[in-house]
Amino acid sequence: MQNRWNLKGKKAVVTGGTKGIGLAIVREFSALGADVLFVARSVEKTGDIPGKSGSDAAICGLSCDVCNEDDRQRLLSAVENKWKRLDILVNNAGMNIRKATADYSQEEFEAIMDANLRSALELCRLFHPLLSRSEQGNIVNISSVAGLTAVRTGVVYGMSKSAMIHMTKYLAAEWAPEGIRVNAVAPWYINTPLAGQVLRDDSYRKEVIERTPMKRTGEPEEVAAAAAFLCMPAASYITGHTISVDGGFIIHGF
Ligand code: NAP
Repeated sequence: MQNRWNLKGKKAVVTGGTKGIGLAIVREFSALGADVLFVARSVEKTGDIPGKSGSDAAICGLSCDVCNEDDRQRLLSAVENKWKRLDILVNNAGMNIRKATADYSQEEFEAIMDANLRSALELCRLFHPLLSRSEQGNIVNISSVAGLTAVRTGVVYGMSKSAMIHMTKYLAAEWAPEGIRVNAVAPWYINTPLAGQVLRDDSYRKEVIERTPMKRTGEPEEVAAAAAFLCMPAASYITGHTISVDGGFIIHGF
C-alpha cells in the first residue's frame, strides 16, 4: 500500500519550479520522497527550498530558459550525468500576454507558443530516452481550463494550453508501450504571482469567485497534489487524461 502512494526514489524534473504552482510541486514531490531538479530562468531566488520538504530527498536548481535550445540540452546533460534516467518530467513553466485578438503581434504569438507549448514538446522529445529507461516514466503537463473552454485569458494562451492537452493524448498513446504515462492538469485561478496580476482587480476577482461553484480560487498545493497523484504507482492505469483542478468551474453550466 505504502509503495503505491508515494514517489520514493523517483527522479523528477520540474520546470518553472521557483514560484507558484511549480514551487508547490517541487515541495510536494520532495515530501513524497522524490529527488527533484527544478529549473527556471533565475534560480538564485530559491534559497528557501532545501530542507522545507520534511524528507531527506534531494532538491537542486538549475538555471535554464526552457525556450532556449542550448539551455534544454544543458538540462538534459545535467540529468544524464546525475541520474542516468528520468522518472518524472513536469512541464509547468508558462506565461501569458493578455490582449484582444486583433492586437497580438507575430512576436507575442510566438513568445507565448514557445514558452507554453513548443518548449514542453521539445523537453518531452529530449527526455524520451531517459523516461523510457525508467520503465515507469511519467510526464505531467500543466495546462489550464483556458485550454478546455473560452475564458478571458486571450486567444493565444488558450490555444497553447489546448494544444498541450492534445499533445498529452498523442504522446500518451505513442509512448504507452514503453511504460511512459502522459497526463495533464488544468487549473482554474490559483493564487500565484502570475494569477495575482489579474486577481488584484477586485471586481474581476469577485466575478471569478461568483462563477466558481466552490466560491474561491485555488492554492498551488491543490494543483501539486493532482500532479503528484498522476505520477504515483497508484495511478498506473491512467494515461492521456486531463484533471481539472478548478473548484468545479468546468462542469458548471447555468
Ligand atoms: P508563475 O507564478 O509566474 O511562475 C512561473 C514559473 O515559471 C517561475 O518559476 C518562472 O521563473 C518560470 N518560468 C517562466 N518562464 C520560463 C522559461 N522560459 N524558462 C524556465 N522557467 C520559466 O506561474 P504559475 O501561476 O505558478 O503558473 C505555472 C503554470 O500553471 C503555467 O504554465 C501557467 O500557465 C499554469 N496555470 C496557472 C494558473 C494560475 O491561476 N496561476 C491557472 C492555469 C494554469 P523565472 O521567471 O525565473 O523563469
